[in-house]
Amino acid sequence: MVSTRPDLPPFPPTNGGAPWPEFLPGWVWLCGAGPGDPGLLTLHALNALGQADTIVHDALVGPGILELARPDAERIYAGKRGGKPSPKQEDITRRLISLARQGRRVLRLKGGDPFVFGRGGEEGMALARAGIPFRIIPGISAGIGGLAYAGIPVTHRTVNQSVTFLTGHDQSGATPTRIDWAAVARASEVLVIYMGLKHLGRIVRQLMEAGRAADEPVAIVTNATLPGQRVLETTLGNAERDAASAGLVPPAIICVGPVVSLRELLA
Ligand code: SAH
Repeated sequence: MVSTRPDLPPFPPTNGGAPWPEFLPGWVWLCGAGPGDPGLLTLHALNALGQADTIVHDALVGPGILELARPDAERIYAGKRGGKPSPKQEDITRRLISLARQGRRVLRLKGGDPFVFGRGGEEGMALARAGIPFRIIPGISAGIGGLAYAGIPVTHRTVNQSVTFLTGHDQSGATPTRIDWAAVARASEVLVIYMGLKHLGRIVRQLMEAGRAADEPVAIVTNATLPGQRVLETTLGNAERDAASAGLVPPAIICVGPVVSLRELLA
């Protein structure tokens, strides 16, 4: 996997003295692109963008990131946005396998981290079953990096010793039935909720029924790390009303818990 190709674009940083991995034909790299700001890509992601023949990307991978790809790379949009028609997961997986079998260097680029509510595991398993060689490149997840850009640390030593990452959406688009909201409400001081805006009302009601205080701080960060980032600070009791009157639209990360108050100094 050592690069000997003189035609690779210059890649200034060194890899601890070792060459950067060469993207071999027929491979799929399952790669996180971070929450949106191109500066939050990893060096492995940048190296991948410079070599890939085909990039299969999500809606959450912004234009600024795709600009870093090889100019002649083929770009395939495989967006899965709630409520809009989107390719089926099996179709995306089949496409990755077929592109790899054609000998392409296939970069499967996903928002955030591929293994955090990103179906990276499903795609990796399908590739493994099909005998396609692949590599996994983690990314900065929106629930950590996106909140950091809003001045919210997901843990703070004197405030919380735990944090729970949840999805507000299940496969059918409903609030997930497998989440025991009462248990979550009791167990974790800080909750970071992905894909939760649509069902915000139901989520906050379940948390308050389980004993979380109506005046507990909540932050909702939309388009985190991007030029259009918005941060709404509210409370569990007012979150639904305030989000509606602010006209917030996804993608949104919702953070519930006392760390939200640290924004005052950190944002
Ligand atoms: N794998 C991704 C999450 C994919 S699920 C990650 O690790 O970040 C999609 C959800 O991620 C969105 O509904 C939203 O909750 C969150 N998300 C991703 N990018 C975001 C951004 N820039 N701003 C706010 N939320 C974002």
